Amino acid sequence: MRELKILSETESLHEGRWWEPMLDGRVHCYLCPRHCHIGDGQAGFCFIRVNHGGKLYSLGYASPPALQMDPIEKKPLHHFLPGTRVFSLGTAGCNMGCSFCQNWNISKSKTDQLHSANIPPEDIVALAIHYGCPSIAFTYNEPTIWGEYVIDICRAAREAGVRTVMVTNGYITREAFHDIYDHVDAANVDLKAFTEGFYGRITLTHLQPVLDTLTWLKHETNVWFEITNLLIPTLNDRPYEIRRLSAWILEHLGPDVPLHFTAFHPDFKLRDKPRTPPETLHTARTIALDAGLHYVYEGNIHSGATHTFCPGCGKIVIRRSWHDVLENMLLAGACPYCGYAIPGRWTNVHAPLKPSALQAYEKAASKYDALNP
Ligand code: SF4
Repeated sequence: MRELKILSETESLHEGRWWEPMLDGRVHCYLCPRHCHIGDGQAGFCFIRVNHGGKLYSLGYASPPALQMDPIEKKPLHHFLPGTRVFSLGTAGCNMGCSFCQNWNISKSKTDQLHSANIPPEDIVALAIHYGCPSIAFTYNEPTIWGEYVIDICRAAREAGVRTVMVTNGYITREAFHDIYDHVDAANVDLKAFTEGFYGRITLTHLQPVLDTLTWLKHETNVWFEITNLLIPTLNDRPYEIRRLSAWILEHLGPDVPLHFTAFHPDFKLRDKPRTPPETLHTARTIALDAGLHYVYEGNIHSGATHTFCPGCGKIVIRRSWHDVLENMLLAGACPYCGYAIPGRWTNVHAPLKPSALQAYEKAASKYDALNP
């Protein structure tokens, strides 16, 4: 990850959405289920939503300290434009308090602790186009907390035929859900465990709002989404818990939502647990497949379970190594051997940009230093 320097910078406070004034001068933020009541001059739990003179402002707007191009498989998304690069950005702060956070250097930072460029939404789209990325990911820290910026980037991206992706913990209120997800094309949702005890002690949040988000995504949107479950030795890796998690997905979301079991490494405040042994991921995957889920992957380890297998005939239809796609054999989204339709968003179909629009995007992108491809 690196900082991107803009040649000329402007600073501005951006008024937030999803808040109401309180009688005592505090503001009530209802963007996420924490429902922070924020005093004048103070910030909410996530650090980047502040009360300034009785109004709520988002410090995350247009100030991403983290910009990078990643393989889409790293998000992880295995059924969304496979083999492409995604222009990825993050800001500061988080609305969860995970002791094992693997991105804690930005998720636990306040905006003034990170050097960030000032990049308006249209310029993020221009940079994605400039670097040949068919999609943009809101990632590295929790994008829900900078939802205003997410929405404006999504609007600009749709006009240009660029797709958008939320990489999220799913901790959002009913009031804000459609405001954000009606603009988004895909998501990877962290389902961090399947017990309230884990969510309460390890993430300082609750499980049910995340399950609600998953059901809203399934039943109320066209967003393509996949689920990640990071397995931490002794905390959330019991076969009984994996069985319950898999059964819940099958019952509420169906068999076709891809599930990624990923390996933990000691980080941030959780350094007394070992790395997740590969056998734990293999066992979890077997349990989920036995439960009836069709697409179950392993991540953060070298494994044959990063390939996509056809549920119809069992053959590999997308062959991967780590985050690389080695071979995509799908024919119009179907297995080339038995014709089974594999769900996903396999191509980015949109009209080519007019030369004048392309020129304008290239001009906007030229204001910024080069990123390493
Ligand atoms: S988004 Fe931030 S300020 Fe708003 S309720 Fe959640 S943690 Fe609190």
